[in-house]
Amino acid sequence: MGNFNCEYNMQDNKQQDMNRRSFLKRVGLGSFSAAALMLAEPFGAMASPFEEKKAKKEAAPESVAMTYRTQNGSGEKISLLGFGMMRLPREQEEVDRLVDYAIAHGVNYFDTAPMYGGGHNEEVTGRTLSRYPREKYYVATKLSNQNPQTWPFEKSKAMYESSFRKLRVDYIDYYLLHAIGGGGVDNLRNRFFDNGMLDFLLKEREAGRIRHLGFSYHGDVSAFDYLLDHNDKYHWDFVQIQMNYLDWRHARGGKRRGGDADAEYLYNRLEKLGIQAVIMEPIRGGGLANVAEDINSQLRAVRPDDSPARWGFRWVGSHENVLTVLSGMNRMDHMEDNVATFSPLEPCTAKENELLARIADQMAGFPTIGCTTCAYCMPCPYGVDIPGNFAFYNQAVTDKVLPLPESTAPDYAERQKAYVEAYQKAIPLEKRANRCQDCGECLSKCPQLIRIPNQMSRLVELTRKVRR
Ligand code: SF4
Ligand code: SF4
Repeated sequence: MGNFNCEYNMQDNKQQDMNRRSFLKRVGLGSFSAAALMLAEPFGAMASPFEEKKAKKEAAPESVAMTYRTQNGSGEKISLLGFGMMRLPREQEEVDRLVDYAIAHGVNYFDTAPMYGGGHNEEVTGRTLSRYPREKYYVATKLSNQNPQTWPFEKSKAMYESSFRKLRVDYIDYYLLHAIGGGGVDNLRNRFFDNGMLDFLLKEREAGRIRHLGFSYHGDVSAFDYLLDHNDKYHWDFVQIQMNYLDWRHARGGKRRGGDADAEYLYNRLEKLGIQAVIMEPIRGGGLANVAEDINSQLRAVRPDDSPARWGFRWVGSHENVLTVLSGMNRMDHMEDNVATFSPLEPCTAKENELLARIADQMAGFPTIGCTTCAYCMPCPYGVDIPGNFAFYNQAVTDKVLPLPESTAPDYAERQKAYVEAYQKAIPLEKRANRCQDCGECLSKCPQLIRIPNQMSRLVELTRKVRR
């Protein structure tokens, strides 16, 4: 994602003015919040995983246009569009309505985790899915034992067992070691090796209570590589990675150790090993759905009726080793658009891929903060709305309000004032960046490895300048 030291690619002034006006108008309407930017962005005794697994016969309805991918080994037909259950509506009825639409249109992969929705989403997911016969859906959940208090075997095991109760199932279709990478291989040892938890999960797979075992990756690529280097021992059934046309070659860490690796590296490594990829952040927390006007016009020139989000989903879905693409759909219009995109998926042409690669190169020069608004860093003990502040900042960059011109520029004071007023309108006093006490509690929780307190200081500095 963007680097603050990059030179900003200045656009046509007229276009910038228009974008700034639309930014301020949106903010003026009070609609700007992290929630506004979240694009509303994976299911008795079973056979051994080392034997051929039988596919569930009814999970893929035949009368829908949805594109399906066949899971290696089991032959299960998985919908290429998966329902990410991280950000759900508050009302169970609303969740039910979305899930009913999804299942009616062939979506059959539902992904949740113990930590989603403040610890409530597994339960909500279990409540909604249990209205359907078990063979109608595949459910994925994770061992979210990132907190050191959950490292002891009994605590991690309790988390695993709780997922069964909350999801109201007696087997889990896809089970993941959640968010490996932060803290590198040492963290893997603490969470899964030294406490015996991975050995336990491997036995659970043999017993059939876990049908497919995998992991999701963010952060230090050494952990990703370590688990794949030992694939002969673990036989990963799938791996969940962050992949979109921007992170393909412009991930924060490139191929360096210690930082998020380019999706191109991750995907190619999995493909070589014959391990299918489940994709998260296909439109980068909504950032690729809400693109700058000059980017949008390049896309519209080729496909006038397609949303930027549809471009992002089509690009990801065009990769054959992708099992399913997760989208956190918490609004019906997003659900409908996404279902239409995948029913069936129209793969990107070579020319379209070239266009998106060029656009990614342009976007990599934008000085945005690489926040996907996942909210893993929340809550902040001092009340800072971390994703909300970063979403506000990124929107201002997208709309060319930022970066501000040199302080000697004639419109400097006016633009700075407009930015600060919009910020004060959008972010309540008690949630602003200046509440950050640099306590560091959020740092280890961010899968994008953002130096959150440093960035908060930058945001504070932007608002301070107005008083000079
Ligand atoms: S470092 Fe700042 S933003 Fe992060 S948890 Fe502490 S006070 Fe909140
Ligand atoms: S954890 Fe990182 S990416 Fe997620 S909302 Fe917080 S700052 Fe953004």
